[in-house]
This record gives sequence, structure tokens and C-alpha cells, in this order.
Amino acid sequence: MAQVTRLPVDPGPAAWNCLLPDPGAAEVLGGAVTADWLVIGGGFAGLAAARRLTQLHPGDRIVVLEACRIAEGPAGRNSGFMIDLPHDLASGEYGGAVQADIAQTRGNRAAIGFARGMAEEFGLSREAFAVSGKVNAAATERGQRHNLDYAGHLAEMAEPHELLDAAQMRGMTGITYYQNGLFTPGTAMIQPALFVRGVARGVAAAGVTIIEHSPVLELVRRGDWVARTANGRVSAPRVILAVNGHANSFGYFQQRLMHVFTYASMTRALSADEIARLGGAPVWGVTPADPMGTTVRRISGSGGDRIVVRNRFTYDPSMQVSERRIARVARDHDRAFAARFPMLNGVAMQYRWGGRLCLSRNNVPAFGEVDDGLFSACCQNGLGTAKGTLSGMLAAEQASGHHSDLLDAVRAMAPPKKLPPTPLARLGATAVMRWGEFRAGREL
Ligand SMILES: Cc1cc2nc3c(=O)[nH]c(=O)nc-3n(C[C@H](O)[C@H](O)[C@H](O)COP(=O)(O)OP(=O)(O)OC[C@H]3O[C@@H](n4cnc5c(N)ncnc54)[C@H](O)[C@@H]3O)c2cc1C
Repeated sequence: MAQVTRLPVDPGPAAWNCLLPDPGAAEVLGGAVTADWLVIGGGFAGLAAARRLTQLHPGDRIVVLEACRIAEGPAGRNSGFMIDLPHDLASGEYGGAVQADIAQTRGNRAAIGFARGMAEEFGLSREAFAVSGKVNAAATERGQRHNLDYAGHLAEMAEPHELLDAAQMRGMTGITYYQNGLFTPGTAMIQPALFVRGVARGVAAAGVTIIEHSPVLELVRRGDWVARTANGRVSAPRVILAVNGHANSFGYFQQRLMHVFTYASMTRALSADEIARLGGAPVWGVTPADPMGTTVRRISGSGGDRIVVRNRFTYDPSMQVSERRIARVARDHDRAFAARFPMLNGVAMQYRWGGRLCLSRNNVPAFGEVDDGLFSACCQNGLGTAKGTLSGMLAAEQASGHHSDLLDAVRAMAPPKKLPPTPLARLGATAVMRWGEFRAGREL
């Protein structure tokens, strides 16, 4: 591979990061650097890979090259549900085959355990990372059936769960919108930007060099791998590619990765009066009982008390969306917000944004040694807070010749399935998503 064909473009502000203090000047690459390890991409996968490398090879020179700033890309733009249980966005009802779901849960929990280890060691706050569980919220009869079916699936998996009725949902959220909920205890809730910035600070303190605003423009093998940026280059014998869907831009997994955007809006900080009118708990988060519905979080922390909503998926093989798209989706956010929070009528959204997801048709990662000394930790199937963390950890292990059951399990997976030609794939994916959103009704 030589030229990188596309660089990441992140639409709208990374709102979670906007709530935090300015991180100060970034280190940008200038000149030639030699390292033992190069990690490309500073999201969940890249930072987990760097962390695992510091554990496996203390004293080695490890460099992370990030195109933007830490927490400005998708890692700082998500809804912050680090989910332990199966949550297949494409399945229609989250769950799949029981044994496969048990294996997937094991992997996700290993990732959450690894993230918790980092949170503890790097002294992150409970706002940044807390295992507090999550609720799948249902607003319709269909949503309630989804929750009951999923509860049955969890029973088969011997997973603890609790059904909440409308009164309990109201007690938690302050709103009357939800008819029932399904609580599961193992999800970690993160303030994504606070978490990834804290992890980046921690790995940097452990000796990793993090270089930002330095997109890799070319990656070639000349004995060692050489990654060229606008103002310098990094040479290393082993590279971990942790760029999610941009694996395609580096020439790998062509016609096997689906590029999807999803979107979120965050209100301005609520006033004391608005907080009182809303009621409920100061911090909560619900994912929709129907995968095509709306995710909602109420947050309360350094950035004030706010509501965050996320919905809509669009298929965008170009890996870019226009500002017009953000404005169009904003209408869906406003409608979802107004329907749920009539007592907050008039509260405006302060931030609106979108971000990339990467899915494969068969819900597997784009993982493994793709070239001599080049290891991919990409394609997190929309759940990169946990799955990205897992693939980063495991790519570092594979590149180090380290063995583990989890690594064997991921290596045994089939590769991402080939997609139909782009126009057909776009038509098919768009039709499935629009139909799913239509059927989601008031869950959206
Ligand atoms: C609105 C929204 C809500 C979401 N909610 C959730 C959620 O609740 N839970 C969940 O698990 N997931 C969620 N996601 C998905 C999650 O954010 C992603 O799956 C996750 O960020 C992927 O992690 P990653 O490390 O693989 O990739 P990324 O986080 O995308 O990191 C890859 C990094 O590589 C960098 N990069 C790309 N090309 C280059 C290059 N040429 N040179 C150098 N660097 C490069 C990018 O700038 C980027 O920072 C959500 C996403 C969005 C947009």
C-alpha cells in the first residue's frame, strides 16, 4: 500500500470535548522518528493497543499518530454506552444465536475490564467511566415486545436483568414517555471525551508518544514500515492500524466495510428551574428497545445538566456527510426531544454533530495481520467503545506473539463478507434503514 486515499472528516463539533477545558497545544509530527511500534489512530482501538503494548513491552518506543485531536473523532462523539451484552444494530432485535452471544459478551466484558483497569490506574473520575448498567427503553407496544423477547434471550444466556414498569421508568427519567424498560447491570457509561483524553494522558505518562493533527498520508514498507505525514515520518517494524472504516483508505478490506453515519444533539445546560421541572435522577441513559429508535442520556457533571439524543443512521460510502445532512437530521432530534420532554419546551440544542460507524455484513471485525508486520484492529460494528477497546488489546497481543483464548476466538472469526457493488449496497442498506426507522415509530 502507498497513498492513503481519504482522510477523516468529522461533521459538526465533538460536543463532549467542547464541555472540557482546552487540552493545550498538540504535539505535531516534524522530522523523522524511529519507533518499535506505530499505532495509527487515537480512538478506542488505538489507545487500547498502545496501552496493551506498554504492558507487554515496557521500555519500547511506542508512537500513536492521530489525524485530528484526541476526542475530536468518533471516539469523542459517541453516546458513551460501553455495552457488555450483544447489541447487534443490524439485527432488528439486538440478539443473535445464544452461544455466539455468550462468546461476544465475554469479549465485551474483557474490554470493559481493561477499560476499568485504565480508569482506575489513570485516576479517571466516575463521570469519565462508571459501570452503572443501562436500560433499553420502550415507548410502544412493539418496543415492549422487543424488551420481553430480549429478556427471554438474556434468560437463555443466564444473564441478570430486570424489567422496569412505566412508574419506575418515570422515577428514573422524570418523563412519562416510556412504558417499560429492561435494565442490565454490566454496561459502563462514559463521558467519551473525558475518558479518551484521560486514557491518552495515562498512556502518555506510561511513555507512549501521542502525536496529533498528523494524518498519515502514505504507508509503505521499506524494510520497516514508514508512515509519512505532511511534515515528517515515523518508521517502525510493526504497525497497528486502528482507523476503523478508514482501513479502506489504506487499501485494506475493500468492498467489505459499510460506512454509516449516526447523529446526535446536546442541549444547552439546563437551569435550576428546568431541572426541577424535569425531575427524575440527575444521571441516566437509555438505549432504544428497537435498535432503530432514539438513544437518550441525561448528564450532570462538569458541563452542567444536559440532555443528549442520538438517532438516525445513513449509509455513506464516501465517508463524508454534508452540513445540510446534519441540519436535516436535527429536525428528527428536535421532534424526539419535544415528544419526550414537553416540560423542557423551548430548551435549545447547543451542539449538533454526526460521526462515522463501520459495519460488516456478517457483524465481524476487520482484524488480524493484513500484511507483514501490519495488524488491523478495525470495523467495530457500531459498538467501538467496547469492541474497539477489545480489538486494540488483541491486535497488540497478536503482534507480540502473545496467546490468549480471546485472541484465538477473534482469529477464528470469518473475515468481513464481500459487499455487493456500491450502488446496490447503498440502495439495499438505505432501504433497510429507512424501513427500520419507519417501523420504529415512536421509539425513534
Ligand atoms: C453519535 C454516535 C453515537 C455512538 N454511540 C456509541 C455508543 O453509545 N457505544 C458504542 O460502543 N459506540 C458508539 N458509537 C460508535 C463509536 O464511536 C465507534 O464505534 C468508535 O469510536 C470506534 O472506535 P475506533 O477506535 O475503532 O475508531 P475511531 O474512534 O474512529 O478512531 C479512529 C481514529 O483514527 C483516526 N484516523 C483515521 N485516518 C487516519 C489517518 N490517515 N492517519 C491518522 N489517523 C487517522 C481518526 O481521526 C480517528 O480518531 C457512536 C458513534 C456516534 C457517531
